[in-house]
Amino acid sequence: MEENLIVVCGAGGFIGGHLVADLLRQGHTRIRAIDLKPFDRWYQRFPGVENLSLDLRELPACRQAANDAFWIYNHAADMGGMGFIEKNKALCMMSVLINTHLLKAAREAGVQRFYYASSACVYNGAKQTDPNITGLKEEDAYPAMPEDGYGWEKLFSERMCRHYTEDFGLVTRLARYHNVYGPNGTFDGGREKAPAAICRKVISAKRSGRHEIEIWGSGEQTRSFMYIDDCVYGTQAIMRSEDITFPINLGSEEKVSINQLVDIVESIAGVKLERRYDLTAPKGVNGRNSDNTLLRKMLGWEPSIPLRTGLEKTYAWIYDQMMSGSSKDAVVNLS
Ligand code: NAD
Repeated sequence: MEENLIVVCGAGGFIGGHLVADLLRQGHTRIRAIDLKPFDRWYQRFPGVENLSLDLRELPACRQAANDAFWIYNHAADMGGMGFIEKNKALCMMSVLINTHLLKAAREAGVQRFYYASSACVYNGAKQTDPNITGLKEEDAYPAMPEDGYGWEKLFSERMCRHYTEDFGLVTRLARYHNVYGPNGTFDGGREKAPAAICRKVISAKRSGRHEIEIWGSGEQTRSFMYIDDCVYGTQAIMRSEDITFPINLGSEEKVSINQLVDIVESIAGVKLERRYDLTAPKGVNGRNSDNTLLRKMLGWEPSIPLRTGLEKTYAWIYDQMMSGSSKDAVVNLS
């Protein structure tokens, strides 16, 4: 009998690329990988996979994606770090077309299970004003006051998934990721997030001999960061779960300030840099951390790869990319 087809949308990007790699490692033989970007810009692309370059904002493309699919993972979105999402709110919200059309096509095609990659940016901003924040619990998304643009799209798409389940019986699974980092992701070009941006800046400072670094905000804002291997494992555990029928946190509880993040990267690089703080730069909320109480209860597991361990691997990969002058991060206008 032919194996069930698994579809990964956004497979040319960071998390989607790692998910395809892991599905292959587990021995899956029928995988369809889809991304808007031309193939030479995908971070990871594998032989033996049905690789397609499609614009999933379009319903016909979503129908092609969903055709014959058993499970669909939706990781396609027009997104980036704070520098991107604070300045591209309309573009971020246009991703609503991707998830909406994918849900419609999945229902038409009789897909068995649909996964949506949501974000901690759905959480109410008023609950994230203190850097000493205790973790955000799932119920903290309401009353709704998410990150403008990007967060509203995520919250709306979460609810679309819920209503597709309630009204049409489509089985959906949703995780709210908290800052994922690792190799094979964006590190320059304007869409990069804090861990990759800091690695790049530290490497540049070390190479140039100009031992200084610009930090966005006061450096006192706090976050937690989840290494990609934990993300890929947790994503699939949530997808397979029979009981996680609601959006759930998928993140690390290891909270650090941005200054502490810089400390770790400096120590990996073996340098000490003079810090300049740009208080006008996009910095996001003052404090954000994941509360994994529900995740632990549901899965008996939570992300546990220490930040230092994950950053060592990320730093090494970015270092190699910068030394070889290879970057897939030329600014892409997806509009
Ligand atoms: P990414 O930007 O590396 O990957 C997203 C991919 O989607 C890109 O390769 C992009 O080309 C593709 N895409 C965009 N528009 C498309 C379209 N119209 N049709 C087809 N493909 C399209 O981002 P990522 O870090 O891998 O994130 C994956 C998902 O996880 C996204 O939904 C993101 O919002 C969510 N998420 C990520 C993080 C994180 O820290 N990385 C945190 C929270 C949520």
